[in-house]
Amino acid sequence: MASNPPFKQEPHKLLVIPGPIEVADDVLYANAHPSMSHTSPDFIKVFGDCIRMIRTVLYSPNSQPFLIAGSGTLGWDQVASNLVQPGENVLVLNSGYFGDSFTDCLQTYGAHVDQVQAKLGEAVQPSELEAALQGKSYKLVTITHVDTSTGVLSDAKALCETVKRVSPNTLVALDGVCSVASEEIHQEEWGIDVVLTATQKGLGTPPGLSIVNASQAAMKAFHERSTPPGSYYASWKRWLPIMQAYEAGRASYFATPPVNLVYAFHASLSQITKGTPSLQERFQQHREASKRIKDTAEALGLEQVAVDSKFAANGMTALYFPVGLSASDIVPKMAEKDVTIAAGLHKDIKERYFRIGHMGISVVDKARGDIDKVLDALTEVVKKALATQKS
Ligand SMILES: *Cc1c(COP(=O)(O)O)cnc(C)c1O
Repeated sequence: MASNPPFKQEPHKLLVIPGPIEVADDVLYANAHPSMSHTSPDFIKVFGDCIRMIRTVLYSPNSQPFLIAGSGTLGWDQVASNLVQPGENVLVLNSGYFGDSFTDCLQTYGAHVDQVQAKLGEAVQPSELEAALQGKSYKLVTITHVDTSTGVLSDAKALCETVKRVSPNTLVALDGVCSVASEEIHQEEWGIDVVLTATQKGLGTPPGLSIVNASQAAMKAFHERSTPPGSYYASWKRWLPIMQAYEAGRASYFATPPVNLVYAFHASLSQITKGTPSLQERFQQHREASKRIKDTAEALGLEQVAVDSKFAANGMTALYFPVGLSASDIVPKMAEKDVTIAAGLHKDIKERYFRIGHMGISVVDKARGDIDKVLDALTEVVKKALATQKS
């Protein structure tokens, strides 16, 4: 969509929290599309394209995407209400805050949940998963790909391999809210049954859409349920015909989709799947930007929450404050330099660390200079805080 003169958003503080992230002008402008009927042929095609582009981002040509108004959290409800029946066993691999919440959601729908709890700053290891799978039979295993409270990355590929080898009938759901489009995910090749995410993190769109991408095996498990899904709005019985209709170019209605947001999402997905950089280069650029941030932090004496580089996410970084400093020495000082970062979230260390997001256009649109701006601000703020503390 062209505008003349091109739309430009207002000057603002750089938003580098782990979601929502900075959104490109053309994506915001797409959101300003004239109001459209959700059953108009023009909109149906845009929605269908979004479904198809999700498959591209996740390397899953045979999956069934669900795009439903809601936040990332709605993905947990979809998994819990459509893939698990009350009383069935679920194993949650917990690497932080979001593992606790996914557990809570699953229990709300009557699942029997066991957890493998990773140590703070670590992810669950395949050997620990294997031991848990040998002790009991599970309908579903959940993995938080990047736990946004710790910046810890789980090895989704190795964990899936373990599940498929030890317990081939167990489904795997990956919470990819903080990893889709910033971490590489080969859903089909790795054997992930569900990837759930949202628009406002790596996918570079305002918040408001829950995206769930289900494998054929997940859909089969859904169809073989003996009880109806435990949710009205989140039920795939209601949404599957809608997704199929939109993809086939037919009008269909269950509940009104966020029409304008879908236009915005289409603009961002088009950039990610068809623009420059390529998807592979996008992942590489996230690894490079992440390394720059982590190297600079280390040089400043800041320690990562992730205890080893193999556990470190590429789309965000969680850093302990230097000894003697606290959030008030860093977070508002960064804001004074027009850089908005996030405070802590994990209950055990909430007051002791902060988080920086580095995803999407802040990483791949190098002309913006966002990463330089973050690093310059961080360097100045930390050095000044340490100098003030000494004097
Ligand atoms: C942000 C996030 C969620 C929740 O997403 P909302 O859009 O805030 O509902 C879930 N899981 C992870 C890993 C997240 O980072």
